[in-house]
Amino acid sequence: MAQWYGNIGKITLPTPFAVGDVNVYIVKGDTLTLVDAAIKTDETWEIFVHELKQLGYNPKDIEQVVITHHHPDHVGLLDYLEVPIIGHEYNKRWLIRDEEFMREYREFYSRLFDEAAVPQQLKTNIRKMEATLQFSSQRSLNLTVEEGMEIPGLPGWFVIETPGHAQSHISLIHQKKGIVIGGDHIFATQSSNPLFETPLIKNRLLFTSKCV
Ligand SMILES: [Zn+2]
Repeated sequence: MAQWYGNIGKITLPTPFAVGDVNVYIVKGDTLTLVDAAIKTDETWEIFVHELKQLGYNPKDIEQVVITHHHPDHVGLLDYLEVPIIGHEYNKRWLIRDEEFMREYREFYSRLFDEAAVPQQLKTNIRKMEATLQFSSQRSLNLTVEEGMEIPGLPGWFVIETPGHAQSHISLIHQKKGIVIGGDHIFATQSSNPLFETPLIKNRLLFTSKCV
């Protein structure tokens, strides 16, 4: 059920992931902004449109999207929206997913599994993780933001870089109102899970077999 909290509208949408439902937010400012975009399925889009209507808006009213991080359950519906996308620079390669990146992605997890002595039969989980990318977006960023920047069109809303759950993760803070939109940096009922990701620096290894 969609609900307003002051100038912020919360919409809860389903996912096929263990995380269950996810929230997206409509923020009223100079520019009507959607924060995060759930997963890419027609069913999720239909529910989103229905819930958005409960808040008094149609998809065409949305003027920009800010993504807190690159995970599929935060970017999927970008494919249905033809408006500028704002996020941290580090989202880009997860959104574009070119051949080189996907090769790095597979090599990184394969090596990580080997170094952590994960049994060979469990390596199929690498493909299962990769399969979740089908729910991600094909679009990329139009504008990048970083620590301390104010979000265009949202006076008073500033970026805090909050890597850990994802390298690309940002949270949005409105200090005067005392509000934070924390993405997956803050969960309601449990601590946020840090995730292993393909390192940003090309060919850099997260683990080595030697102590240094
Ligand atoms: Zn996430």
